[in-house]
Amino acid sequence: MVTGTATRMTTQPAPSAGERRLTLLGATGSIGDSTLDLIRREPERFPVEAVTANRNVAGLAEAARRVNARLAVIAEPSRHGELEDALSGTGIETAAGADAIAEAAARPVDLVVAGIVGAAGLGPTMAAIRAGNDIALANKECLVCAGQAFIAAAEKAEITILPLDSEHNAVFQVFDSDQADGIEKVTLTASGGPFRTWSRAEMAAAEPEQALRHPNWDMGAKITIDSATMMNKGLEIIEAFHLFPVTTDQLDVLIHPQSVVHGLVAYADGSILAQLGSPDMRTPIAHCLNWPERGPAPSRRLDLAELGTLTFEKPDDGRFPALRIAREALARGTGATNILNAANEIAVAAFLDRSIGFLGIAALAEATLDRMERQGDIVSPASVEAAIELDHAARAVAEELLPEIRAQSYAL
Ligand code: MG
Repeated sequence: MVTGTATRMTTQPAPSAGERRLTLLGATGSIGDSTLDLIRREPERFPVEAVTANRNVAGLAEAARRVNARLAVIAEPSRHGELEDALSGTGIETAAGADAIAEAAARPVDLVVAGIVGAAGLGPTMAAIRAGNDIALANKECLVCAGQAFIAAAEKAEITILPLDSEHNAVFQVFDSDQADGIEKVTLTASGGPFRTWSRAEMAAAEPEQALRHPNWDMGAKITIDSATMMNKGLEIIEAFHLFPVTTDQLDVLIHPQSVVHGLVAYADGSILAQLGSPDMRTPIAHCLNWPERGPAPSRRLDLAELGTLTFEKPDDGRFPALRIAREALARGTGATNILNAANEIAVAAFLDRSIGFLGIAALAEATLDRMERQGDIVSPASVEAAIELDHAARAVAEELLPEIRAQSYAL
């Protein structure tokens, strides 16, 4: 049994109720879109310092204009000219490259929304933390890849991490930190994804288009594939372990196809508190932007009478081995969860490229962990820099193993 670390989430003094200056890392992704929509509705309350994106210049320029950001930064250095052209005459400052992203993240603001997808978000999010900025964390990979080192950096900087991932935000809303000893269980729900009822044989032949068709949530490609394999829920268990003061065996997953109940906390007296809402990221984002107050979000209001029935099922580790692999990695520590995430990112990209079959995704993650275990390379990173190094090493091993997995992944 391993014990996680409580963040400073509820111990910080509340920021003032007035204006809140924001920076948005990953402005062109799905979290970015939803955040921009909320900002646009209350531009005076949420002035924007900086917006960043990886390579989507047109999307970034549009985002910067929509919220009148002071600064727009594109990660891909060769696209700086394009960005300058797209924003010429607006007075919006532009920059490009990884260092410029880190500098943007470090500009003093009230809250940085960390919405970058994947381990690529670790460096920029760390830059924000080291500069003393509070974080609304959607980038679960920060915790999966760096774990304790990430939390320690946040504690050292005395910043607040607000969980933005919908399940963790739900748990945050009903987790009474003052009564942590009276908490028995934390449950994250999962929709089950598009293959919830599929057999292994059907999944072996699944095409990327089928895996990208999520029944409830409209998200980016990476996380949608992670939902189909259920690796997303595995990563979220790891994320929850670091965000809340719970042990690994207090963390549970429940399949809930309607995606209405997002997270539940069970207490010693038999009470269960849950957060419900439409599957719309604007609700958890609005919760973070306004915390500890409440502010408006235009998400569709739940009509429980209209819904009528909510259903729940146990997850099936046999058909969805990613959950088991993620739990085993969590038990082995952050070295293993880091490798798991890196291998999974390589595997998802390979599946979208049609280089491996759907079942090859979990298989590659497990094979990479096994190989690195045999080589004695599973070492928990002592710093965020070490986490980034391990991530790169794991990607190289996963790439090496790809041909082997390709050969078997359609027949698993
Ligand atoms: Mg989630």
